[in-house]
Amino acid sequence: MKQRQLCILGATGSIGESTLDVVSRHPDLFNVVALSANTNVDKLYSMCQQFLPKVAVMACAKAANQLAIKLSRSGLASIDVKSGEQALIDIAASSHTDTVMAAIVGASGLMPTLAAVNAGKRVLLANKEALVTSGQIFLDAVKASGAELLPIDSEHNAIFQCLPDVEQQQVGFCQLKDNGVSKVLLTGSGGPFRTKAIEELSSVTPEQACKHPNWDMGRKISVDSATMMNKGLEFIEAKWLFNIEPEQIQVVLHPQSTIHSMVQYKDGSVIAQMGNPDMRTPIAHALAYPERIDAGVAPLDFFSTPSFEFQAVDFKRYPNLELAIRACKLGQAACTALNAANEIAVDAFLNKQLKFTDICKINETSVNKFVSEKVGNIDDVLVLDKKVRCFVKQLLDEYEVNV
Ligand code: NDP
Repeated sequence: MKQRQLCILGATGSIGESTLDVVSRHPDLFNVVALSANTNVDKLYSMCQQFLPKVAVMACAKAANQLAIKLSRSGLASIDVKSGEQALIDIAASSHTDTVMAAIVGASGLMPTLAAVNAGKRVLLANKEALVTSGQIFLDAVKASGAELLPIDSEHNAIFQCLPDVEQQQVGFCQLKDNGVSKVLLTGSGGPFRTKAIEELSSVTPEQACKHPNWDMGRKISVDSATMMNKGLEFIEAKWLFNIEPEQIQVVLHPQSTIHSMVQYKDGSVIAQMGNPDMRTPIAHALAYPERIDAGVAPLDFFSTPSFEFQAVDFKRYPNLELAIRACKLGQAACTALNAANEIAVDAFLNKQLKFTDICKINETSVNKFVSEKVGNIDDVLVLDKKVRCFVKQLLDEYEVNV
């Protein structure tokens, strides 16, 4: 395998760290060219010390200044430090890289991820919000540039692995029915509140919501997992990645998170991908595709693994999931509005300004308000995203007064 030249967007996050862990096991296969973060100077600094990238970008200019000072004091002034969104776009599209891990959280990752796509890179897509918020526009860019899209979300990576070779070569443009696929079964654990009394959900704290039973993740996706909005965003992501109708996607609760998703074929076969819940598996898979490399993940021990359970989703417990499926059917404006509203609402919940159960109310009000907006190009996406965020901030101001 030829050595890959890597850019990691969101290096200091949970996915970024797992990516660097896999990379550190294979220095001959991967060379880290560029790393990025938002504000976490100390973490990016220690990553720069270990991986010696050419460029380090921080979204925040003040943080970038601090990083540059630290690097130059420790004899690493040759690492070029930059800041701002344009610098993120530049490293994503740079001719020095061939592979981009898109792991910024939220719609802030949209333009850098799209830049990697436009430059025809191998794009390892963790940043599902980028695809959810721009859908067809994102895929049109993939088609135009010939970029290679590989899913990092464990569910989509699992579905990818369960598909025939021919479909793996056309992510974004699959023809699943032609290849005998009848359904995609998207599994989800149900998060930390699967068995909690529904009446008690309004008083759960950010700390409780971020304590996922099986996965160790960033705070935003942890809250999304607790509301199951994450599964909703994944539902929309699956529709785009696998070119599949919403009616052919079924969410299945599987509390053990051992099966990461499944594909059902018309002859009755169901192919599942399994493993311990550790993001280094899908990351290693996508980094080395089509080869296989050691990810540092222990193999499944079937004799100590608890038995597999499967349940249907109770939408009363997870109204955000129902809303996301509705948005998926309503179209792009609904999805863009849902994603933007959810980012602000989750942030407010994490800052203890909003009750857990009111995240969905904010999201639903926003989807209903913006569902008919026109979203034909990337500028429309950015305008709508901004409008929704302003609207939700107003809602939150009123909320604070009324609570
Ligand atoms: P984290 O919150 O752990 O990390 C987010 C990363 O993005 C950090 O490097 C952060 O920098 C950076 N960042 C945050 N805001 C900005 C911004 N405005 N501009 C530039 N960079 C920014 O998130 P995760 O790693 O958990 O998730 C990343 C993405 O991967 C999400 O889209 C998530 O849905 C997806 N994903 C995550 C999984 C997981 O297991 N964690 C599983 C599947 C998908 P800093 O550290 O400086 O704040």
